[in-house]
Amino acid sequence: GIPLDLVLWTESNFYSVCENDVYLPRRERDAYKGNFGRDYILGGSVGYTGAPVLAARAAVRAGAGLVSVGVPEPIWPVVAMKLDEAMPSPLPAGKTGMLSLEATEQILARMNSSDVCLIGPGLGRGNGVASVVRHLLRSAHTAVILDADGINALEGHIDVLEARRGVVTILTPHDGEFLRLGGDLSSGDRLAAARSFAQEHGCCLVLKGHRTITAFPDGSAYVNTTGNPGMAKGGSGDVLGGIILALLGQGMSCREAVPMAVWLHGRAGDLCAEEIGEYGMTPGDLIERLPRVLRECE
Ligand code: AMP
Ligand code: MG
Repeated sequence: GIPLDLVLWTESNFYSVCENDVYLPRRERDAYKGNFGRDYILGGSVGYTGAPVLAARAAVRAGAGLVSVGVPEPIWPVVAMKLDEAMPSPLPAGKTGMLSLEATEQILARMNSSDVCLIGPGLGRGNGVASVVRHLLRSAHTAVILDADGINALEGHIDVLEARRGVVTILTPHDGEFLRLGGDLSSGDRLAAARSFAQEHGCCLVLKGHRTITAFPDGSAYVNTTGNPGMAKGGSGDVLGGIILALLGQGMSCREAVPMAVWLHGRAGDLCAEEIGEYGMTPGDLIERLPRVLRECE
């Protein structure tokens, strides 16, 4: 189990080491792939083919049963060539190589037949894309993790989260994305900023960076203790999205899955740093080490 060093914020204003270790759910002997999640990733655009691929590979490596990936049609052949273990499908795109509004109903159908969805890696920042994302958030009843351009789609439209109260919604911004959402980091107190955002908007907020904070709507929060600056490279966040997706799909609660995924992601990073060093390690190297990290938590 993990983690002796995952730190839980308590209301009495001190950090206490989490007393209950968190374990991965057992894989029953007679299980089949449907027991481990039908996961859907919506991402990618011309110029960003790697992000959805990294998320999908990470999800597969983190135990997901079935991973489907929706990408704009122009990049679909590339994504399909890269992914043997996930199922990429093409979606209608506009001239910019990003999703078009026409894709909305098709995506909605996929989301509603999935257990959990990750929206955003490499999706791009067009007005069309942002309005598709907001429509999906208002209409889909599936648990959603929003990352990257999925988060950017809420800029100036944070009220969309109101429509999702009562449905699992997880946002995983880095500082820049958090600020775009209207988050406030001016006090320098990241823990307070994350907690107040999660409470105000009724979502789970993962404020990424050194000592990533996972905050819940009830005011509780975890401060992660794994990870290192070797992870400060494009693509690391996409890997985290895929791990969260996989753990939720395997039936873990949001409360357990999210801080555990953050911990595992950092732990994989720490193994990379130990074995090959912070300079040369890549997001792909994190994925490669996930099996070993997961085995520590069985
Ligand atoms: P993104 O900015 O979306 O690519 O996400 C970067 C990922 O790498 C997040 O999970 C961060 O927590 C992690 N990361 C980046 N820099 C550091 C750091 N200095 N120490 C620990 N983790 C980091
Ligand atoms: Mg990112």
